[in-house]
Amino acid sequence: MTEALLNVVGVSRSFSAGEDELTVLKEINLQVNRGEMVAIIGASGSGKSTLMNILGCLDKPNKGHYFINGQDTSAMDENELAALRREYFGFIFQRYHLLGDLTALGNVEVPALYANEGSHERQKKATQLLTRLGLSDRLEHKPNQLSGGQQQRVSVARALINGGDVILADEPTGALDSTSGEEMMKLLRELHRDGHTIILVTHDPHIAEFADRVIEIKDGEIIGDTRNDNVNAYQSSDRAATELVDNPPQTHPQTAKQQTTKYRINWSRYLEALKMALIGMSNNRLRTFLTMLGIIIGIASVVSVVALGAGSQQSIMANIASMGTNTIEIKPGTGRGDRRSGRIRTLMAADADALKTLSFVDSVTPTVRANVAIRYASEAVTGSVQGVGTDYFRVRGYSLAQGQFFAEDSVVAMEQVAVIDENTEQALFAEGNALGSVIFLGHLPVRVIGVTEPIESVSSNSDELNVWLPYTTVSGRIFRQNYVSDITVRVDENVESEVAEQGIISLLTMRHGTVDFFTINTDTIRKSIEKTSATMTMLISAIAFISLLVGGIGVMNIMLVSVTERTREIGIRIAVGARQTDIMRQFLIEAVLVCFCGGALGIGLAYFVGVIFSYSGSDFQMVYSGTSIIAAFACSTLIGVLFGYLPARNAARLNPIDALSRD
Ligand code: ADP
Ligand code: MG
Repeated sequence: MTEALLNVVGVSRSFSAGEDELTVLKEINLQVNRGEMVAIIGASGSGKSTLMNILGCLDKPNKGHYFINGQDTSAMDENELAALRREYFGFIFQRYHLLGDLTALGNVEVPALYANEGSHERQKKATQLLTRLGLSDRLEHKPNQLSGGQQQRVSVARALINGGDVILADEPTGALDSTSGEEMMKLLRELHRDGHTIILVTHDPHIAEFADRVIEIKDGEIIGDTRNDNVNAYQSSDRAATELVDNPPQTHPQTAKQQTTKYRINWSRYLEALKMALIGMSNNRLRTFLTMLGIIIGIASVVSVVALGAGSQQSIMANIASMGTNTIEIKPGTGRGDRRSGRIRTLMAADADALKTLSFVDSVTPTVRANVAIRYASEAVTGSVQGVGTDYFRVRGYSLAQGQFFAEDSVVAMEQVAVIDENTEQALFAEGNALGSVIFLGHLPVRVIGVTEPIESVSSNSDELNVWLPYTTVSGRIFRQNYVSDITVRVDENVESEVAEQGIISLLTMRHGTVDFFTINTDTIRKSIEKTSATMTMLISAIAFISLLVGGIGVMNIMLVSVTERTREIGIRIAVGARQTDIMRQFLIEAVLVCFCGGALGIGLAYFVGVIFSYSGSDFQMVYSGTSIIAAFACSTLIGVLFGYLPARNAARLNPIDALSRD
């Protein structure tokens, strides 16, 4: 091969240090051929690591060109450089740079993951490599459970998993004792013998002796490039060289890429990112929980408020329904609270009969109210005595527990019969012998012919006593008068209640010659309640939205801190070939997961609130709708995406050099 594998031409690298420019590399020219083992030696601060980072495509030169296999790297974009790092290079660092959350096996798998290798393949290869490096019994150990030498061997396995054509080792023995250091150098020699190109940086001349070629660098300039002939002595002592030759670790990622369909690749990458996020979350439980707290509270309040609103609305609607559906009440006076209404005596039973002739009217009942004592034997109670028409029970939706309602005949004949409700029965008849008994309403004896089932209603509170007689009996035999307290009209189902109301008003106005009455339309009441509760829900949702926003900002805040905290991890991932999109995806998934879990916990909390609420003695229950829960999940996930984006982007844009130099 005429072209060198790595070709550095006139490369300079300088850093800005405040006002000044610090030139670290000065017009470096260097060629490395395939299969060479090169040591770069120089004093601390001479620019070795800077050169190494450029060789490994972690950093770019300010001036000059760097060709890999004849391709100019300065023309490549971030993704192409990431691909080079994955497919050509394997990094070994002085401080190992393993990911503390992952096991030895997990660490070795990372570069293969970014190379889109299937999880089974990945695991198999990583296990083989670790076994070959003598770590078969340490696969599941975390880095902090391994010695320095073992950690460095894990990082060698990581460098090899994608093939590792070129191994870049920056002070690989710097943190090791001399025995482990020597073993590491022998291992590198084995790899060299195996066909890997090895570039090694050291300040230690003894370590440099293991290489075939030693390049000396001083103050950013190459001052020596010598062949090392003593090296054979070490080669002969290579322990496991033959083993490695028998099983060369040469699977190239491209083949894996061809095997796996695009669909599966994406899934497995998302799955891996999810797994990483879960590991990260479970390793920082308290922090994760605190991050979630804002979302939990936000979602819990949204869901409970909506459930509370739905519950109260449902109970109000049930009450309205019990007032009778599609009913219009007609009362004397000019409106509710008209004090003179008691003296207006123009509403007659005949009006009720006239209203019955209207085509859109289903049924009509007049009501005459009287406040008289209700007595039976020695018991006396006060309750509401109402004279009503036969349609009354149908209009108000009453049903019978025992006996019967009075018929039209009873109304015409002013019969002294009564229907009582369950409360009255309990108050007067301890022995339950109500039916057929005679009770006294004031001085009027009436026979009980029916007892109603209890119903819920806003207009009658639950401990009220009700006695109903034919209205003719009340007006004729108790009051001796012929006006009624009010008339209730039930309108046909398919008629607009407003239209019906107008019809009723014009008929009565015609009969009375003046408007001495007013109407109450339950439909209108229902509509106005619906409108009010919709407004309330909107208002409270706005507050809940703000609390979610605050929660989201909390998530973003902690994620931003977490990115700073995990700079080193991000640097390592980028060095082993993660694309910007991979890093971005990982952090986004983490944010979404945190918010999603927060949402789930929030919904759980809302249900818990509902249980407590049901014990609080309120007369209605919280009603949870599927839509509000799905909306809550969607909302929390969206918050994760929105507020996770900025931290994720920051993470993806980190400069790997800065990131790796952090501890
Ligand atoms: P070596 O690895 O040979 O010890 P380095 O290549 O790490 O040396 O650093 C060479 C010089 O460049 C040092 O003086 C160091 O302070 C400087 N340097 C390295 N990286 C940066 C950076 N990111 N920003 C500013 N100065 C840097
Ligand atoms: Mg260095």
